[in-house]
Amino acid sequence: MTHYPKSQAILSENSRYIPGGVVSTNRAVDPPIVFERADGAWMWDVDGNRYLDYHAAFGPYVLGHNDRHVNDAVRRVIDEGSSLYGSGTTKLEGQLAHMICDAVPFVDSIQVLNTGSEATYQALRLARAATGRSHILKPQGGYHGWHNDVACNLMTPLAKLGPRRVADEYPFETISAGIPQEHSSLIHAINFNDLESVEAMCRKYPIAALITEPILQNIGIVHPLPGYLEGLRALADKYGFVLIFDEVKTGFRHALGGYSAVAGVAPDLVVYGKAIANGYPLAVIGGKKELMDLFVSPDATKRVLLAGTYNGHPIPTAAAIATIERLAHNDGAIYRDFETLGQRMQSGLEKIFKDAGTTAVVARQGSAFCTYFMDHLPVDWHDLATHHDTEMDAHLRRELLERGVYFFQLPMKQCSLSAAHTEADVDQTLEAVEDVLAARLQ
Ligand code: PLP
Repeated sequence: MTHYPKSQAILSENSRYIPGGVVSTNRAVDPPIVFERADGAWMWDVDGNRYLDYHAAFGPYVLGHNDRHVNDAVRRVIDEGSSLYGSGTTKLEGQLAHMICDAVPFVDSIQVLNTGSEATYQALRLARAATGRSHILKPQGGYHGWHNDVACNLMTPLAKLGPRRVADEYPFETISAGIPQEHSSLIHAINFNDLESVEAMCRKYPIAALITEPILQNIGIVHPLPGYLEGLRALADKYGFVLIFDEVKTGFRHALGGYSAVAGVAPDLVVYGKAIANGYPLAVIGGKKELMDLFVSPDATKRVLLAGTYNGHPIPTAAAIATIERLAHNDGAIYRDFETLGQRMQSGLEKIFKDAGTTAVVARQGSAFCTYFMDHLPVDWHDLATHHDTEMDAHLRRELLERGVYFFQLPMKQCSLSAAHTEADVDQTLEAVEDVLAARLQ
């Protein structure tokens, strides 16, 4: 079994000055690994272990680590004297906005922020300002960041879930203390893929917005059933709430227009992050002009405050422009390559599980995939809670780590291929999975 003595020493030293030793709660996993370097599809830790990376740092590295084109763009702005120029406007932010509005038909204008959480926060604020309502809907099993509107009533723990019910009746859990009760009483969970649960909430509360990933990617990959996203669109129009697609994880990974483009359903507002800048901190909120213009409304009672010292910082903005250039190159050929490589991974995994007699299904969208140890593809959090074998999931991840394949050490975290992964990498990964299953059967 691999040991991580240097990683452990660094983490325990860090813990003296950083609570828990990590700067994001979500990074506290076992075994604790301190990484030193990454390039393309590979990462190295301080103990000298090398890993084929499928975590992509929670998703951003769509081009792979240390991409040369992105690095060059960043170096150029540094060499030119990277600065916020007394907080003036730069040409870069306009260039980025132009590219995104050209790429996504339903985006009339954008604003540039730093993180996905800021973007979901601003989207919900815009929705409340536009509708004059306060209540928010979001799906069980969705993750939209750390702020008050989205860190409460998140995922009912599996053990407490029980059979599917009207969403508001769940024993809600919050992922953070310190959220006032008055606040969490405005946030209601719905079931993904369950339009009735949305309509039930709309009849009960005046809803300002429904925020959802159009394809859930924080509990693996849960596809919308045919008609579900169209149904959300229709309910938004019927009840007058703002439909927000959170494409922080899916935007630019599945298509230039995100999963909305794949599904052909347009939200009112969309938020992007992660893959948009291949690992640099940048997020975007975009959408319909009448909503986005609330940021500059002449009516002070409607105007939404948008501020941020680092909004549109030249370094991440240049990285985002370079990333989108690479993704758009040759008419989006990269997405076709993702499909081919993803298919190789999926069919390889399916064969291995079948041959080993292991009950498993592989969910995939382009470059992102996730194995569920159950006999059907999940439709919502409920389904996973009742059917997915999390122990087998954890076992596979732990054993793959021993074999130099880095799946994040948390059940149901989806894996991401990048433009730097090769067929040989996929085949090596499949061999490792086969080896894990063979060892289990011995
Ligand atoms: N929305 C989704 C779908 C996410 O997956 C995440 C982060 O994982 C966020 C929002 C929050 O983004 P950030 O971590 O950049 O604040």
